[in-house]
Amino acid sequence: MQVFDNIREIRAYLSALRCNGKTLGFVPTMGALHAGHLQLVAAADKENDCTICSIFVNPTQFNNQEDLIHYPRTLEDDLEKLKDAGCAVVFVPKLEEMYPKAPSININFGDLELEMEGEHRPGHFNGVGIVVAKLFNIIMPDKAYFGQKDLQQVAIIKRLIDDFSIPVNLVCHPIVREHDGLAMSSRNIRLSRAARKDAPLIFKALLHVKDFLLAGGDVTKSKEVALDILSDSTLLSVEYLTVTHADTLKSIGTVNVGDTVAICIAVRADGVRLIDNLLFNL
Ligand code: AMP
Repeated sequence: MQVFDNIREIRAYLSALRCNGKTLGFVPTMGALHAGHLQLVAAADKENDCTICSIFVNPTQFNNQEDLIHYPRTLEDDLEKLKDAGCAVVFVPKLEEMYPKAPSININFGDLELEMEGEHRPGHFNGVGIVVAKLFNIIMPDKAYFGQKDLQQVAIIKRLIDDFSIPVNLVCHPIVREHDGLAMSSRNIRLSRAARKDAPLIFKALLHVKDFLLAGGDVTKSKEVALDILSDSTLLSVEYLTVTHADTLKSIGTVNVGDTVAICIAVRADGVRLIDNLLFNL
């Protein structure tokens, strides 16, 4: 496995592969890798000649400095996992390599960032858009792999690709969960023992909303039921719980048979911010 921290060198290495007709699959991450990330690496490995994973904790997408400071960093362990997963190339740039100076560009994703993560994390998607555009320009992959865990991010990246005509195919894979239903996240390492114990209530609440809607219940009542479940824990505080149309990710007050629905949630679990979602057809 080749590890690069320098843009010029990784470009030269990948350009030679491209010239030899090799296809490139790319998995961008912020590290502290778990099975959710590794399924993306495995998929990339299966569908491309060469798999590249980046590990970069991107400061411009953090609207909360505490969150950035405490974001888990486990590079040695990550490299071991990537080697075992069949990753061929890892890009681990330093901050100065990615941002020799602060970017002056500002990307506004319009209606896509009015709700949920966009609303609650001002500037977050601008940071995501800039770093992903930079990484696409450095790696120039044929396919890029993202997780449904960050559902709104997937919509943002789709728009980035469309608006800038970036020649990459976006591939999205489902959420990988712990045995008790908690969506895997790098931030789970930071949960207190008590918060980790209560955190599966998040998925339980999502499942209740789904079942309630499938049984013909209305959106407002379904959310009340979910909030009631989450109120069983004094450690969980809900930032948002939104029922949306999966294709627009806009919140809806009523659902109809035939709709594809995405229930999205953000919760603070004893100070650690967790997100999750559930996609289904009515
Ligand atoms: P991150 O390192 O959190 O930026 O995540 C890197 C990629 O892995 C993103 O596309 C995430 O959506 C994806 N990812 C993170 N957690 C999961 C999970 N539990 N299941 C599926 N994909 C995930």
